[in-house]
Amino acid sequence: MRVDILGIGVDALSMAECAARIAGAVEAHSRLRVVTANPEMICAAGKDPDLRRVINSAGLVTADGVGVVWAAARLGTPVPERVTGIDLLEALFPLASRRHWRIFLLGARPGVAAEAARRVGESCSGIVWEASHGYFEPAEETDVIKRIGDFKPDLLLAGLGAPRQEFWLAEHEGLATVSIGVGGSFDTLAG
Ligand code: UDP
Repeated sequence: MRVDILGIGVDALSMAECAARIAGAVEAHSRLRVVTANPEMICAAGKDPDLRRVINSAGLVTADGVGVVWAAARLGTPVPERVTGIDLLEALFPLASRRHWRIFLLGARPGVAAEAARRVGESCSGIVWEASHGYFEPAEETDVIKRIGDFKPDLLLAGLGAPRQEFWLAEHEGLATVSIGVGGSFDTLAG
C-alpha cells in the first residue's frame, strides 16, 4: 500500500519488507527502481512536477527519515518505520555476498566508491564490484553509461546527490536490474 504525503506515494513497508522486495527483484531479474524519499525531496517535488513524476513512477518509494514517518502518522496513514538508503544497503550486502551479486557504485568523489566497495568487501566477500566517481563531465557520460551497461549490474547504486540521482536513474532505467539512489552513502561506507 502507498500512502500519500504531499503528492508523493510512499510505500508503507518495513525495512525488512523493503529489503526483501529488492532482493526478490534482483533474484527474479525483474526491473525495479527505488527512491528513498526524504523530507527535502518530498518538499522539492511539491514544486517540481518532473521530480514528482520520477519519484511516483519508481517501483519502490521508502520513507527516508523520521519526518516522513511522522507526517504519515499525522495524516492518519502510518508507515511502519524509517527506511534509509544506508540501512537498506547494510541489509542487502550480506545477501549480495552469498548470491554473488554484481554491484555498480556510481557517485561520490574519485576513489570514494572504490574504497566503499573495498571496505564492504572485507566483511562481505563474493560481491562483484565496479565503481565510478560522480563528477564526470557531460562529454564523459556516454563512457560511464557504457561501462555500466557492459558490467550488467544486478544492482546499480547512484550516489550523485538528490534529486540528480533520481532523474539519472529514471532516464537510464535499462542499465541494471535494480537501481537505488543512495545519496552520500558511499562517503559513509568508505569511512
Ligand atoms: N556527488 C557526485 N557528483 C556531483 C555532486 C555530488 O557524485 O556532481 C556526490 C557527493 O560526492 C556525495 C553525494 O553525491 O557523495 C551527495 O551526498 P549528500 O549527502 O550531499 O546528498 P544527499 O544524501 O543529501 O542526497
